[in-house]
Amino acid sequence: MLPLVALVGRPNVGKSTLFNALTRTRDALVHDQPGVTRDRNYGLCRPEGQREFAVVDTGGIGGEDEGIAGATTRQARAAAAEADLVLFIVDGRQGASRLDDDILAWLRKTARPTYLVVNKTDGLETHAALSEFAHYGFTDVIGISSAHRQGIDDLIDVILERL
Ligand code: GDP
Ligand code: MG
Repeated sequence: MLPLVALVGRPNVGKSTLFNALTRTRDALVHDQPGVTRDRNYGLCRPEGQREFAVVDTGGIGGEDEGIAGATTRQARAAAAEADLVLFIVDGRQGASRLDDDILAWLRKTARPTYLVVNKTDGLETHAALSEFAHYGFTDVIGISSAHRQGIDDLIDVILERL
């Protein structure tokens, strides 16, 4: 079986945009409204001359237990629990939010290897954007722009080092 990488984060941080960048597809719906990805969506990343791995996009973990938001949260949790590596995606434009804190606390409980990815760093001073998340205590963190395909190849290298 191929190793599996799960994209986890709150709604609207750019998980589906990153999924499309990694898989070089448009399979995941990208939307400016939160909560568009409701099911788990699996794809393949096939970097040239390197190992392949599977990627699963998830709906944002919305912090709700009821209804569609609750079902989405459970799906995302199930995807993270079965993954070999979790990419915890946050929004470099908005900085850390309460919901990010909650997701991180939950990820720590799953004990899956987790890597912090700060998305939407286009037009930002990368170092400043990353330092907004320094208190999360990750030794490594990468800044990317999924929408502009910046840092995606570096991210793939980081993923492959950890799989
Ligand atoms: P998801 O809810 O986490 O799956 O987020 P989406 O991938 O649907 O993206 C949410 C919104 O953020 C959309 O309007 C995207 O175009 C936008 N977005 C995603 N990645 C980037 C990025 O790297 N830079 C900027 N500026 N916007 C982005
Ligand atoms: Mg999505």
